[in-house]
Amino acid sequence: MADAFDVIVIGGGPAGYPAAIRTAQNGLTVACIDEWRNHDGSAAFGGTCLNAGCIPSKALLESTELYHRLREEFAVHGIRASGVELDLAAMQKRRADIVRKMTDGIAALFKAGGVTPLQGHGKLLPGKRVELTAHDGARRELTAKHVVLASGSAPIELAAAPFDGQRIIDSWDALELGAVPKRLGVIGAGVIGLELGSVWRRLGSEVIVLEALTEFLAAADQQLAREALRQLKRQGLDIRLGAKVTGAKVTGGGAGGGATGAVEVSYSDAKGEQRITVDTLIVAVGRRPFTRDLLAPGTGVALDERGFIVVDDHCRTGVEGVWAVGDCVRGPMLAHKGKEEGIMVADLIAGRYGEVNYRAIPSVIYTAPEIATVGASEEQVKASGRAYKVGVFPFLASGRARAMEATAGFVKLIAARDDDEILGVHIIGPLAGELIAEAVLAMEYSASSEDLQRTMHAHPTLSEAVHEAALAADKRSIDSINRP
Ligand code: FAD
Ligand code: AMP
Repeated sequence: MADAFDVIVIGGGPAGYPAAIRTAQNGLTVACIDEWRNHDGSAAFGGTCLNAGCIPSKALLESTELYHRLREEFAVHGIRASGVELDLAAMQKRRADIVRKMTDGIAALFKAGGVTPLQGHGKLLPGKRVELTAHDGARRELTAKHVVLASGSAPIELAAAPFDGQRIIDSWDALELGAVPKRLGVIGAGVIGLELGSVWRRLGSEVIVLEALTEFLAAADQQLAREALRQLKRQGLDIRLGAKVTGAKVTGGGAGGGATGAVEVSYSDAKGEQRITVDTLIVAVGRRPFTRDLLAPGTGVALDERGFIVVDDHCRTGVEGVWAVGDCVRGPMLAHKGKEEGIMVADLIAGRYGEVNYRAIPSVIYTAPEIATVGASEEQVKASGRAYKVGVFPFLASGRARAMEATAGFVKLIAARDDDEILGVHIIGPLAGELIAEAVLAMEYSASSEDLQRTMHAHPTLSEAVHEAALAADKRSIDSINRP
């Protein structure tokens, strides 16, 4: 095997593997180095997203939502079910099978596309050389004209609640639990905390979510956040805001708590020191860039004060021929953001056009109802001083949402008063994560709300709610009462 490549990508997650595939599509030689190993020790491409993040969480969210709906919601459709039982082992096997098929799929794409897969640890040495340490410890040196760093991120550990892998666990462990905890604590009401809390709540856990901030989803549009909080509380998630965790102690049952152990969690809120006892505690307080042993001294690649690899708008590190993409660089930690960066860099390396529009990155929380946003919140637009208008359309007025028995939530569209440009779209409701795609495309094309108003939407579909929200921005909604 040749040890010199046009491009070496370090990291085979959703930022790295698309960079490798696009590089090969562009006719260059490329290797992708990845060190991921699953809990059973098996190596797999796909990174956090496929192995421990997006895909397994969505598999469990889908299964648990079906279980919940069958028990709680099917009766209203005239479907009566008795003897419904949870087979968690089968549910978890399905999750693991999906992950395996998807990660095998990347290996197959590499093979078909001409990407050289290399499993093991990659370390950038000065002069665009890369040291590869295979899982068996064998070392070799590779060279490349360009190196793309895509080393991803890792869960943040709280000093007050260190992981023990059994009772105090990270998001990966929380996806692979073999039993439903009776009492579950979640630290952090961010995307991951809310999704994992929802999964186990639907399976019967009593879930308490402790969030240090007093505002729920502080960065989101607050009208959307208020509705989300209302809906999630209604489902029985006990979300406590302004609750900063100060300690967690595993009690009883020997090391790690054992079968009879528990976790005593202390937190402070406006009323003072509080304490709860749970069986399992998920720490979901965010992720940090992962760059352990990635850069040898003298490479010239800089990290910022939070540990992110410093890059410009085109993911150049400042060292000629060295690029960085995905969770290890600034910007939202989202798989699709990393994917677009990986593709951009591969195209720039090949001398083609490449650009990422950082103003139109969709963000989805896969709770029920789903929460999806793109662009600016009303608070951000207000703060910018630009005059704006808002259109809101409730799913209560959507025929399709009624047919689906999924009328909670709304579509909110914000457009500029001066030139009618769409500035932000915020959706809470059924399949919001799919509906947001239309808003992303509209913003990508700098569309006006009138553009959406004049676009025909099939009836009856959920997408009509986006159409009607655009009409509502000019108080011309047909299917809802326009607000004065
Ligand atoms: P990663 O996916 O972390 O991949 C990096 C890879 O590089 C890993 O395989 C790692 O082992 C490898 N690596 C690191 N250093 C080296 C080295 N020196 N040598 C060799 N290999 C190395 N995002 C979404 O957009 N949608 C979601 O629904 C979503 N859900 C999530 C749910 C959970 C529970 C979690 C934890 C995350 C979720 N995310 C979601 C976030 C998403 O997983 C990340 O944004 C995404 O995986 C980042 O991609 P990446 O390629 O930058 O990094
Ligand atoms: P995200 O970054 O979206 O994954 O969300 C993580 C959440 O965890 C943020 O909303 C933080 O405010 C919250 N958080 C961080 N530290 C603590 C803590 N000690 N106690 C409670 N919540 C915390």
